[in-house]
Amino acid sequence: MSGSGEEGSPGGTLLAAPALAERGTEPSRLAPLALRPGLLAAPLAALGERPFRERQILSWVYGRDVLDPADMSDLPLGLRTALGGVLAPLDMRIGHVSRSADGTRKLLVELSGGHRVESVLIPDGDRLTLCISTQVGCAMGCTFCATATLGLKRHLGVEEIVGQVVLARREVAADPLGAGHLTNLVFMGMGEPLHNIEALLPALEILTQQWGLVISPRRITVSTVGVVPQMKRLLEETHVRLAVSLGATTEEERRAIMPVTRRWSLAELLETCRTLPIKRRDRITFEYTLLAGHNDSDEAARRLVRLLGGIRAKVNLIFWNPFPGAEHQRTSRERIQRFQQILLDHGVNATIRESRGPDIQAACGQLAAAADSEEFTALDVPGTVLGRTEY
Ligand code: SF4
Repeated sequence: MSGSGEEGSPGGTLLAAPALAERGTEPSRLAPLALRPGLLAAPLAALGERPFRERQILSWVYGRDVLDPADMSDLPLGLRTALGGVLAPLDMRIGHVSRSADGTRKLLVELSGGHRVESVLIPDGDRLTLCISTQVGCAMGCTFCATATLGLKRHLGVEEIVGQVVLARREVAADPLGAGHLTNLVFMGMGEPLHNIEALLPALEILTQQWGLVISPRRITVSTVGVVPQMKRLLEETHVRLAVSLGATTEEERRAIMPVTRRWSLAELLETCRTLPIKRRDRITFEYTLLAGHNDSDEAARRLVRLLGGIRAKVNLIFWNPFPGAEHQRTSRERIQRFQQILLDHGVNATIRESRGPDIQAACGQLAAAADSEEFTALDVPGTVLGRTEY
């Protein structure tokens, strides 16, 4: 978008959100978990230090999870003291951990300004996946998602995205049961990641680079509802995997449940998917949340087969998870299996994703940071500003 909520929100005025809250960062100090090579060059030069000190500091922050300069023991004492005026303390923490009977853990992460988001740790065999949030609330208004009921409060900063990974690693390391280590990251928590791409891209750089957290981009999936212009940019500038939440097989149905379709049509979205620079042997994952009586018919399954023609695709069929105030109904297991079978019979790779953590409202579409200190925000506030990211 370009500064105007009416212009930039996916559904025009219908999706405009209130003016966004500011993050409580200190402009005079740098957030350690947003550091990238070069950012410390000027402060170090001003302190009369040599450039190689930056690599030492990055190694402490990302390699050893030491964020307080006072503890960076191979730096000269004077530099450690001076860095206290350059680097700000981490301004986020895990406020609460909810544990599901299936081993899923939901982390309520407290941010500056009294805001909260949720990250979810999902164990699955040898895998331990962290589901990450990118915004406080969300502007996209998908009717099947609890986060939409919050509206968009603000974007997360680079350090708040990276910080969720660092805090989750600490949580895992402190687990008395020793439940392994993080293996995969999915950007499927609160918010639309590509609506906050200016923070997402540097965060992905930090997460994947050798000087950073050294997580393979092949183990990172970014999910979008179809912010079309940013999909291409994401795949040009990173090597992460892409997931697209499809949700419907006709323009009319998708507009009804995913207002982003008013800005970028289903046809435009799928045409973009056909032309994206997908690597050989890679596929786009299409997520399809089944809503009883809306998008779960045999006819819809056959339409989905036709829509995905010419796209290297796999389909994740997702049980809709209820939340207070929602008007949808859950599709039966028999119906979802029938839907899957039609896709398989037509050569479409389709799996059913089982809900994880529904007993702690950690399942797909249920994240709403229930303890958020602010009131829920109405979505239909015409003429107000959506956010800072340009579509
Ligand atoms: S499904 Fe994703 S994009 Fe849609 S409202 Fe929920 S968080 Fe936002």
